[in-house]
Amino acid sequence: MLIKNGKVLIFEDGDVKIKKLDVRIKNDNIERIAEKIEPIKGEKTINATNKVIMPGLVNTHAHIAMSLFRATFEGCNLYTWLNDKVWPIEEHLTEEQVYNASMLSIVEMLSTGTTYVNDHYFISESIRKAVEDTKIRATITRVLMDNDGEKESNKRIQEFKKLYETRDNNNSLITYSVAPHSLYTCSDELLEISRKLALEYNLPIHIHFLESINEIDDIREKHNDLAINVLKQHFAGIHTILAHGVKLNSYDLKELKEMKCGISHNPISNFRLGCKIADITKYSKEGINIGLGTDGQGSGNNLDMFETMKIAALAQGGIHENEERIGAKEIIKMATIGGAKIVGLDNEIGSIEVGKKADIIIVNTEPKLDNIKIFPNNNIISNLVYNTSGTSVETTIVNGKILMENRKFNSLNIQKIIEDVKNLKHIK
Ligand SMILES: [Zn+2]
Repeated sequence: MLIKNGKVLIFEDGDVKIKKLDVRIKNDNIERIAEKIEPIKGEKTINATNKVIMPGLVNTHAHIAMSLFRATFEGCNLYTWLNDKVWPIEEHLTEEQVYNASMLSIVEMLSTGTTYVNDHYFISESIRKAVEDTKIRATITRVLMDNDGEKESNKRIQEFKKLYETRDNNNSLITYSVAPHSLYTCSDELLEISRKLALEYNLPIHIHFLESINEIDDIREKHNDLAINVLKQHFAGIHTILAHGVKLNSYDLKELKEMKCGISHNPISNFRLGCKIADITKYSKEGINIGLGTDGQGSGNNLDMFETMKIAALAQGGIHENEERIGAKEIIKMATIGGAKIVGLDNEIGSIEVGKKADIIIVNTEPKLDNIKIFPNNNIISNLVYNTSGTSVETTIVNGKILMENRKFNSLNIQKIIEDVKNLKHIK
């Protein structure tokens, strides 16, 4: 397949650049990038004149099945939301609900430019089926916690093991993580079990970390130590992805840098749950790797990573008055190569480079009414971050396969996916 005449977003000499280039995809890889590539006879050619070709967006923290929770609360904090709204409902979720809700979420992601998602949920075989059926790239897991006793916890551990042990080694689109829910819902024993599972299966850890102010004291009470020390005690030496990290001080940052932990920054969810905002300008300066995430739709509204980029960039202006705060270029990196790095897939995805997997999106920037927000298009990168909606994504390619072209899905019946969710027994 050949994508011709597009403006390609590339990373070069530490900078983000837009260059007019052609891109050839062979099987699942990017085979060639050059100023002019002539099509081979019979080769599928996409004309990307007036369009931006960029790496598929990397969503580093989500709960795929949470489309069911969209717009179901207003104004509560994290603990109230989890205890009163989320957990009582999740107890009764069925495989059918999780599968259909996941299909809807994945369509939401693919149609707004996300080609990879790092999930954190349960009833995970239904999620895996949705991932397989849609062909998005994903890291999946079965979340672990033991704040409701050993029996339930053991069941979760067995479900995780079964999920991992029944994996399809031929499916390179799906990878796995070990996911203790958080330090405030997991005992030291369970964190130790998580560590052993991560080592035994050679998987990363994916955990919520210092999202809300209440956690700091709760973790100290539960584990008799600072959160950062608990994390270090259990996960030093293991690739660890921390969701949120809103409340990090200089000592935390120093330790996290040594531990090589990456932070998944989820600004919309943080604002919605009144968690304030992570100072990612400072984190970046301290050398912490950062990716962006949407969290689930319950707290994060939707899975449009373009919206997340915009809010992530703007929010830094709410805590920094100087001009040194991070801007559009850094944010684009976080949404692509930075995210790929924190989930450990930067050798395969996150940038348009020869030899990498062809996870590519084409964004329509043609001069027309639907794109009126980006005119005059004085700075493409700035417009991608501040003035582009996910619905401007025209074509989505994952692993060299076109999943959506000209906003039409080739092999998914979108109307049926919407109907299936409408027909579910709904949550309140
Ligand atoms: Zn989360």
